[in-house]
Amino acid sequence: MADSTESGSRKLLGRLREAMAGDSAGQERLDKITHLIANSMGTEVCSIYLFRDEDTLELCATEGLKTEAVHQTRMRMGEGLVGRVARFGKVVNTPDAPAAKGFRFMPETGEERFSSFLGVPIQRLGEKLGVLVVQSRDPREYLADEVYALEVVAMVLAEMTELGAFVGEGAALSPLHQQPVLLRGGTGQEGTAEGHVWLHEPRVVITNPIADDPHIEQARLNHAVEELRVGVNKMLEMSQNGDKEQLQVLEAYRMFANSKGWMRRMEEDISRGLSAEAAVEKEQSQARARMEQVSDPYLRERLADLDDLSNRMLRILTGQGKETGIDLPADPILVARNIGPAELLEYGRSLRGIVLEEGSVGSHATIVARALAIPLVVHAKRVTTEALNGDHIMVDGDQGVVHLRPDDTVVTAFRDKIAMQAEAQERYASIRDKPATTQDGKEISLVMNAGLMADLPSLPSSGAEGVGLFRTELQFLVRNKMPKRSELVALYSRVLDAAGGKRVVFRTLDIGSDKVLPYMKPTDEPNPALGWRAIRVGLDKPGIMRMQLQALIRAANGRPLTIMFPFVAQAEEYRAARAEVDKTIAREERLGHVLPETLEIGAMLETPSLAFAPQKFFDEVGFLSIGGNDLKQFFFAADRENERVRRRYDTLNASFLSLIERIVERCAISGTPLSFCGEDAGRPVEAVCLAAMGLRTLSMRPASIGPVKSLLLRTNLDDLRKVILDARHRGEQTVRPMVMEWFRQSR
Ligand code: PEP
Ligand code: MG
Repeated sequence: MADSTESGSRKLLGRLREAMAGDSAGQERLDKITHLIANSMGTEVCSIYLFRDEDTLELCATEGLKTEAVHQTRMRMGEGLVGRVARFGKVVNTPDAPAAKGFRFMPETGEERFSSFLGVPIQRLGEKLGVLVVQSRDPREYLADEVYALEVVAMVLAEMTELGAFVGEGAALSPLHQQPVLLRGGTGQEGTAEGHVWLHEPRVVITNPIADDPHIEQARLNHAVEELRVGVNKMLEMSQNGDKEQLQVLEAYRMFANSKGWMRRMEEDISRGLSAEAAVEKEQSQARARMEQVSDPYLRERLADLDDLSNRMLRILTGQGKETGIDLPADPILVARNIGPAELLEYGRSLRGIVLEEGSVGSHATIVARALAIPLVVHAKRVTTEALNGDHIMVDGDQGVVHLRPDDTVVTAFRDKIAMQAEAQERYASIRDKPATTQDGKEISLVMNAGLMADLPSLPSSGAEGVGLFRTELQFLVRNKMPKRSELVALYSRVLDAAGGKRVVFRTLDIGSDKVLPYMKPTDEPNPALGWRAIRVGLDKPGIMRMQLQALIRAANGRPLTIMFPFVAQAEEYRAARAEVDKTIAREERLGHVLPETLEIGAMLETPSLAFAPQKFFDEVGFLSIGGNDLKQFFFAADRENERVRRRYDTLNASFLSLIERIVERCAISGTPLSFCGEDAGRPVEAVCLAAMGLRTLSMRPASIGPVKSLLLRTNLDDLRKVILDARHRGEQTVRPMVMEWFRQSR
């Protein structure tokens, strides 16, 4: 480099700023910049490649290569040395480019004359924007100092790109965050929604990447770090009594806040001419690029901590808090990396839809979104980097697809879909008060699953006859400390009030497996789904179970009460739990509390073993509800949370239906009321097949009641049963094809 000192680098940034200040167009600016960089670094070539779409880089400006190649030369991510820099977000520095791994010869550029190559990524907070390259004729490796200087320049280019400084003709120069984007993720909650983006954590915008006076910037950085340190220490003090994991995270924060390496790198960036916020962001970008590469979960966690810390610093430095002054749009679609259940509850029903970059099907946020019936797409990669507050967005929770800034054809197609769904909803509303009587006169009772107060308004609107499953653990999951008995009494009492005399089946705490209480000591189990969970925890630690039983009895306050125990694997567990109820009733009576008018006690049948329990168990249990989600996972030995296997086995598999039939028969012998409350009860085809196998009560998400009832009303269960038995008799693995064919023909 002609002038490789810090002041040289500052001078270059100063000239860059001047080049930017004029009112020239995007292309002109890029041309000036390549000229400036080549000139001040003493290289023959300087080129800027920008992404024209997610996977293609385009040569957008060059000093030294053939100008005809500009906007003509393109390469895919990972292709050639430039593509390699882009893919891995890492510097490539080689004295002999043609001999380097991955080199691709591009004759139109005339680059064969140049031997040495130095490429650095242009990226902003994990968003890949392009690649900056310098090349020279003589075979030399660029010095660490030169590499560093080019990285600093790339950082500034990234900021300028973000601010729209290079907008012009051509796809690669079209403004960022304006093109339509299609993102594919997974379904968290079905349903469709159209609205405008509301970023849960808005992006910080840096308008001043280049600074005049490094001393001032250094002082600003020191001040921000100090503020951060004080903040982290305060958080640590406050959570000294908190749980271990939270403390560990905060300790990690403190470690970074005091980390010499982190500080030193930022100080160096500042001395080269970056502003304090640009220096923080450069570190953050690099941490994000590393995060994409590492698979070790511990390292990823630490990088995520560093990312969070950088965000806090940026907010301190720019004064841009979460409060941006922008009002929540009338039709907000929340976009976030992830969100906790409590935060989501705070937004409540004001949200039209939710899109998460991370999240998972079984996460607590998903549970809340389901309870609120808000369409949710999870795993929508890049959504937080692509979306801006206020962007038009369409969420298809059924397909797990998100259309950001959709074009007219997508808008029309999507609105058609929404209109069709609305029509269907109207149809369902018209049958809401009708009983679900099948063509052959069988009456099926449709009840709903719930778990939060937010679910209860759906009871009248869905036409459910009651609550067939109230998952009490959700109330425990969305808090950060164990609820008190008095709180539970108030809550259960409100649930019974809201049900207005309709039956509510309260399932006692079903924790463990995927449902981990944040305030309970985690148990490290090799196979949590098969581990210490649900009734096993309840019986081993009867304190919580007793508290919950007391709360339920007090909340009933003389009204009928129905209690169900989850995950009973053998009769003895049910008996032990029942004995706890008897003891609690006796105690409550002694204490002078009013006892429930009637008390029904039942169990969930979620393990195949219980289907084969001695008949005596069926005689003594008050009622049974098949937890199909768990029963299916154990029957097929296929983890319900594992995307690879969870859809592998069909509910309409002949063996599974035989198991259901057997349970129905055994309950019929003893006259034990039986229901089905797994997700399959809410899928119309599965639901009618379950009814055909003899189930008379189905419990499902409120939104499913309409579609399930609609199909039941049109079905002759006796005929359907014959189709199922016939398929089984023929040895079919799943009865689905024959059932679907029968539906098609009888339409
Ligand atoms: C089930 O397993 O089917 C069930 C209803 O319970 P959960 O989904 O809460 O485990
Ligand atoms: Mg279950």
